[in-house]
Amino acid sequence: MSKPQIISNPADVQKAAREWKKEGLSIGLVPTMGYLHDGHRSLIHKAVEQNDRVIVSIFVNPIQFGPNEDLDNYPRDLEADTAVCESEGVDIIFHPEPKDMYGDHFLTHVEVDEITKVLCGRSRPVHFKGVTTVVNKLMNISKADRAYFGQKDAQQLAVVKKMVKDLNIDIEVVGCPIVREEDGLAKSSRNKYLSPEERKAAVVLSRSLNRAHALMDEGERNADKIRSTISDELSKEPLADPEYVSVVDSETLQDIKGDINDPVLVAIAVRIGSTRLIDNFSFEL
Ligand code: AMP
Repeated sequence: MSKPQIISNPADVQKAAREWKKEGLSIGLVPTMGYLHDGHRSLIHKAVEQNDRVIVSIFVNPIQFGPNEDLDNYPRDLEADTAVCESEGVDIIFHPEPKDMYGDHFLTHVEVDEITKVLCGRSRPVHFKGVTTVVNKLMNISKADRAYFGQKDAQQLAVVKKMVKDLNIDIEVVGCPIVREEDGLAKSSRNKYLSPEERKAAVVLSRSLNRAHALMDEGERNADKIRSTISDELSKEPLADPEYVSVVDSETLQDIKGDINDPVLVAIAVRIGSTRLIDNFSFEL
C-alpha cells in the first residue's frame, strides 16, 4: 500500500482531481477534522470501496467554531491519521491551514436556513454556516463524485444533503451508520476530553436512546412519551446535563407534537462535565 500524499494547497488537490477526472476515474471525498477513530475509518473504508480514488480532508475548520468552543484544544494527530489513511488505501490527505482556505480576503459563505436553527443550531449559531461553507469548498476542490458523512452528526448530514439538493451540486452524499464503543458510547474525537468518571457516565446517552428505541419497537408513537423516557433516564446520571432531547421530523427537523406518523430523528445533546456530546437514532415507521 503506498503512502497517501499529504497536500495543503487547494490548487494542488484540484489539479490532481482534474487529472483523475480526465482519466475517467471516480473520486470519493471524506471530510474530517482529524484525530481519526473507527467512525471515520468506516467512512473512509466505504469511500475506498466505492471509488477509484479517495481524498480525506483533515481540517479543523475555524469558522464552524463559536467564540467559546474548543477550537484551540481540538485534538490533533496527523501522524496517526496518516497511518489510518494509509492502511485504508487513501490517495490524498488534504490538510490545509486556515490561511490556505480563507486567507485571501474571504467574503463568501453558504448558508442553509431553517433546519440549521434547531437542535445543535440553537446553541451553536454559527456552526452550520461554517460547515456548509467548508463542505462546499471541499466538494469544489476535490471534484468528488461522492462525499461520505456519518449519521452520528445527523443534523449535519441533513443540512449537507439539503445544500447539495438546493444548489444542484453534482455529487452523491452517502450517509454512514454510527460506530460505537463496546458499551454503546458513539465514537467521537471529543471523547478524549472525558475523565475516567465522565467516560463511565457518558454511556447514559446511548442507554437513554436505547430505552426510547425499545419503546418505539413496542409500538409507542407519542413523541412526548419518547422525550420524557429519555429525559428520565438522563436525569439518573448526576454528571449529565442535557442541552436538548428532541423528536423531530427526519427531513424538516421540526419538533413532532403528539403522535409520530412519519420517519423521525430522535436526537440528544448532553454535557458530561464540560464536554458536549451528541447522539441520535433514526426511526422509520
Ligand atoms: P469530525 O471529524 O468529527 O468532523 O467527523 C468527520 C465525519 O465523520 C463526519 O461526517 C462525522 O459524522 C463522521 N463520524 C464521526 N464520528 C462517527 C461515528 N462514531 N460513526 C460514524 N461516523 C462518524
